[in-house]
Amino acid sequence: MRIILLGPPGGGKGTQGDLIGKLYGFPRISTGDLLRKAVQDRTSLGLEAEAAMNRGGLVRDGVVLELVRERVSRPDCRNGYIMDGYPRTLSQVLSLEALDPDRPESVLEIALDEDVLLERLAGRRACLKCGAVYNLRARKPAREGVCDVCGSALVLREDDRPDVIRERFRIYREQTGPLRAHYEAKGVFHRVDGSRGIEETFREIRGVLDIEVARSKGAAARP
Ligand SMILES: [Zn+2]
Repeated sequence: MRIILLGPPGGGKGTQGDLIGKLYGFPRISTGDLLRKAVQDRTSLGLEAEAAMNRGGLVRDGVVLELVRERVSRPDCRNGYIMDGYPRTLSQVLSLEALDPDRPESVLEIALDEDVLLERLAGRRACLKCGAVYNLRARKPAREGVCDVCGSALVLREDDRPDVIRERFRIYREQTGPLRAHYEAKGVFHRVDGSRGIEETFREIRGVLDIEVARSKGAAARP
């Protein structure tokens, strides 16, 4: 089973991906993480990606695809994997299907209204020193404005500013339209409500995936 997660940035996709991974035993593959790791390890793909990012450009599709190809060929992906942050375009969708054509697929969009997302992210505060993230409503630091882990000052990140969120949401909506249409036509698209708490959203996801995963195992067992 290949599970593809769609959802606006900051909408809880990573958290849900981790929960799905833990419950069903599939690794969560984030292309952001793969790129960072490749850059860190100074691999040839990593160096190419770094050069593109340093020029302020996008990393070539072929580079990301090669990283994905390498990752999904590892043994821990044999029974399934979760894609987070990829594919983003129809051309990437087709590349991924060509890479691993026989695998049953299930696409989950964790849907959120822009206003809900704005309200949620406006309360987010981050520690730039250790990377810990807090939320003024859901996950407050013990002392206001101070990181519990390392004691540094907490800030509203550039990424969490309302105008930045609005712009990313606009891009997300634009990019996701063609993907949704493609996956709906394939009959593998599911939308869940991401505006509720982590547990409620995950319960809805389980409702979908329990059926999908069982069905995919059944299909694999058939001669
Ligand atoms: Zn800290």
